[in-house]
Amino acid sequence: MLRLRNLGSGSSGNATVIEARCGTQATRLLIDCGLGMRHLAQRLDAAGLAPEALDAIFITHEHADHIGCAQALALRHRIPVWMSHGTHVALGLPDFDGLLHIAHDLQPIALGALELRPFTVPHDAREPLQLRCSDGASHLGVLTDLGHASNHVVAQLQGCHALMLESNHDPDLLAQSRYPEFLKRRVGGRYGHLANAAAADLAQQLRHPGLRWVVAAHLSERNNRPELARAGLATALGCEPQDIHVAAPVAGTDWLEV
Ligand SMILES: [Zn+2]
Ligand SMILES: [Zn+2]
Repeated sequence: MLRLRNLGSGSSGNATVIEARCGTQATRLLIDCGLGMRHLAQRLDAAGLAPEALDAIFITHEHADHIGCAQALALRHRIPVWMSHGTHVALGLPDFDGLLHIAHDLQPIALGALELRPFTVPHDAREPLQLRCSDGASHLGVLTDLGHASNHVVAQLQGCHALMLESNHDPDLLAQSRYPEFLKRRVGGRYGHLANAAAADLAQQLRHPGLRWVVAAHLSERNNRPELARAGLATALGCEPQDIHVAAPVAGTDWLEV
């Protein structure tokens, strides 16, 4: 059994728990940790988890909305941490007291009942990685913070039974926003964030009869609206807009079983 719970999504902070169960063994991974310790503990508690129930932390890249209390959490509860070498360098080589493992593109990570397959994405970070997660039977793709869906990204997520996909902005809302020009270019660029239409196009490429659900994530609070993200993905997947889950900035999602 494989399930996901997002604990918050967007530029104010990202964190997602993935849990795999095999018999009595449960393995829980925290993907990104872009919250302060108190907020993270509160949201884990709402999910029925204590911080010490986490078996590992995977950091996708060095941007502040993905890092938060990662180092303090890992050291306090002796939780192993995975990230790319580039992310570690970009963070200033923080000391994880022996808990750090370096992740590489396409190199599988075995973690109890959970198997991870990291893959590189086009984003303006040093060496960003996103993840395909599996309990051996079901596959879940987790993909945020990318400017465009490269062939590599599309290939790595084929056949997933559930997806959490970035659907960051609507280009018209971004163009009209008060963001400075450089930031508009960055967000909308090839190494920025995925627009709604690009997310929908990717969803269409990943669509197959075994795809059970999709969560739209990392929505811009200023330059997007949940109904716009939902509408694009629903059209691409041939479902109703209300069938698309949206990871809220603070509330995240409920537990979603793959
Ligand atoms: Zn981000
Ligand atoms: Zn980022």
